[in-house]
Amino acid sequence: MNKKRIEKLRHLMEKNQVDAFLISKPENVRYLSGFTGGSDACLLISAQENYLFTDSRYREQVKRECSGWQVLEERPPGFEKLQEASRAYKRIGVESHYITYQLFLDLEQKLGSKIVGLSGLVEELRICKDTSELNCLRQAAQIGDAVFSDIASVLKAGQSEIQVANQIGYLLKEKGCSKEGFDTIVVSAENAALPHGQPGSRIIETGDMVTMDFGGFFQGYTGDMTRTVVVNLADSIFRDRYLKVLEAQQTGVAMVKAGVRGQEIDQAVRNCLKKYDLDQYFLHSTGHGLGLEIHEQPRLSPLSEDVLAENMVITIEPGVYIPGWGGIRIEDSVIVKRDGCEVLTHSDRNLKIV
Ligand code: ZN
Ligand code: ZN
Repeated sequence: MNKKRIEKLRHLMEKNQVDAFLISKPENVRYLSGFTGGSDACLLISAQENYLFTDSRYREQVKRECSGWQVLEERPPGFEKLQEASRAYKRIGVESHYITYQLFLDLEQKLGSKIVGLSGLVEELRICKDTSELNCLRQAAQIGDAVFSDIASVLKAGQSEIQVANQIGYLLKEKGCSKEGFDTIVVSAENAALPHGQPGSRIIETGDMVTMDFGGFFQGYTGDMTRTVVVNLADSIFRDRYLKVLEAQQTGVAMVKAGVRGQEIDQAVRNCLKKYDLDQYFLHSTGHGLGLEIHEQPRLSPLSEDVLAENMVITIEPGVYIPGWGGIRIEDSVIVKRDGCEVLTHSDRNLKIV
């Protein structure tokens, strides 16, 4: 049990005037309890009590992973033991951004308490990372770098996108990740114009640009990095555009420090691309928070109200996507510091011919 995190959560619960809070989103369950059993568990936390509900398949695992919890064997969403445990609570918070409407109705009917939708409470606690989390994210990034180095040395014309993606997935695990943090993106030539394209059967040819976006979970925390390389030779258009995207990306990284608004960084990155008339091809936001989930707060987007704070972990990932031509994205993960940032992903950002 992470007492500090639970204390902070209790503070937020008090502010939101609930007697107890039912947590079912797997990343939040893990964050508070250490339990890795995913969606087969939920927590009920009140001012005094900490209950963990899961079923008998996890009897041993829960002993190993979670001390300090009153474990009740009931597979969520079972209600008998939950009813019992929550009898004294008049107002129970639920994760309205996560639970189904059906579960909400069932809880209302079966618990006899007022069910209060609360959105993003635990996520709020998760924005700034503690030392152990930062170490996991450093490690995840280091594995990503090692994978990129390996893949860059074997990537060649004649391989399909899906073959390269499979190799990346394999290497992530071989180097210590439990699984991919998200579906690996490998897109080549004109397919690189799809920011979130799926790797397909297209065979990579000489002169193709290849964008690879990947990351793996290390002890629950995912890495996230993107590099666009070019196979055998780079033409002048690619060289030119690559340098412009790199300039935008480096502009973004250089601005990162506590107190800066996500929106300001996004704007600066966009302005940099605008100088070259490339901003119209930048189809997503500049970056996002990273942690137990691949996309977390804060957001670095045109509409973001988020202000960076120390020990947030974010990505800076501008890209251009030009239909019929292709695309380029460069993404690094960084830790926000008081006066700057610590870049976690160290793979070379200079134009790379493989
Ligand atoms: Zn990415
Ligand atoms: Zn990303």
